[in-house]
Amino acid sequence: MNENMLLNLGHEWDGTDVQDLIVDLVNALSAVKSLSEISCEMADEKTVIRLALSCLLSNQDIEKCSFFIVDDNNILHNVTGISIDEQADLSGSLSHIPMYFRLGEGIIGTAAATGEMQHCSNCHEDERFTQGRNDLIYMPGSVICTPVFTLHKELIGVLNVSHPQPNYFTIWHVRLLQVFSNILGQLITNRRLFQQMEVQIVSRTSELERLVEETQRLKDYYVNMSMQDQLTGLHNRRYFYEQVEIALAQQSRYRYPFCLLMMDIDHFKLINDQFGHAFGDEVLVAVADSLKNQVRSTDILVRFGGEEFVIIFVNTSCDNGKNFAERIRRNIKSLKIHNAGYDVELTMSIGLYCVANREDSNDQKFDIDQIINFADTALYQAKANGRDRVEVFEKCTNK
Ligand code: GH3
Ligand code: MG
Ligand code: MG
Repeated sequence: MNENMLLNLGHEWDGTDVQDLIVDLVNALSAVKSLSEISCEMADEKTVIRLALSCLLSNQDIEKCSFFIVDDNNILHNVTGISIDEQADLSGSLSHIPMYFRLGEGIIGTAAATGEMQHCSNCHEDERFTQGRNDLIYMPGSVICTPVFTLHKELIGVLNVSHPQPNYFTIWHVRLLQVFSNILGQLITNRRLFQQMEVQIVSRTSELERLVEETQRLKDYYVNMSMQDQLTGLHNRRYFYEQVEIALAQQSRYRYPFCLLMMDIDHFKLINDQFGHAFGDEVLVAVADSLKNQVRSTDILVRFGGEEFVIIFVNTSCDNGKNFAERIRRNIKSLKIHNAGYDVELTMSIGLYCVANREDSNDQKFDIDQIINFADTALYQAKANGRDRVEVFEKCTNK
């Protein structure tokens, strides 16, 4: 600030007491310090500006401050104003009369248009103050209007401070407001960048969440597909091995007995040979439907492969397992599948193995392949003994 500028501002060095200067300096530093402590993470730009104005009022003998933001149409709107009386209330609820200036209009518009601080030491005599406006309701003595810019030198708005007394502001106020408006510009820039970042993060996060959901949905779909038999709609062998682990764990923990049925359609090859593969498929679907109707939702029913099906009746005793197996055999035998004027009949052989809740089985660990093997052995016996029958694996029959 050179001597000319001082003169322009209506002040000359008058040998002010050093003590007063130090007080001014401390006040100026306090205003800047409290401004620098405002967080740019606040959602509301108006609140940030209002807090900034309050920093000024708290530390300077200023009567009123206001901030006019420039909009996309180059109109300056008073986004917030605050006076020394209102300073304690930062809620922003105080009503303020909406005002606007065009670029170049009045002292605020001049500050915005020129990009330079405007100091009006006596508003009553200064043309810039009233220029083109006769609707101004407040007539201060002195005003300083400081344009505030982003870090990229784009105009944000104009900071105004006023005092009822003419010739009130000094070189200290001018210097302070220059520093203050720079920091305020940085603060508002940072807040805007922060908000943009937040908006981007929110939109990227929701996009990511959508993709994760979509991926999960696809994964579920393919996992489901990979565990399902396309022809019959039953689960397949892969599902069986997954579920059987759970049944075994429950058996071992709670000592629930369960029964495994290995089922195979008798002479199915003949059906294929006689009526064609497509009809064979129909038979498989009919058998699957019949089996579906005979199991509870907790039981495990799968198409194990070809014309073989497996059921695990969970929490089912050996006696009940035998009864269920018999019923299944009878129901399959009673199926009449229509083909070209014929009612095709079929039968099924069933091998049964019971994992029973026996006193002596406390320490027994069951291996699923072993259990399948036992049920398969029983099925082999059923085939060997003439088909269309249920055989129970010998260890269970010994019980
Ligand atoms: P057994 O009483 O000893 O079980 O005789 P089987 O004829 O039923 O047994 P085998 O293993 O000789 O024949 C099974 C037939 O099942 C052979 C195969 O072509 C047929 N098959 C396997 N999967 C399918 C399928 O998805 N659809 C049809 N239509 N046939 C199938
Ligand atoms: Mg077979
Ligand atoms: Mg067969």
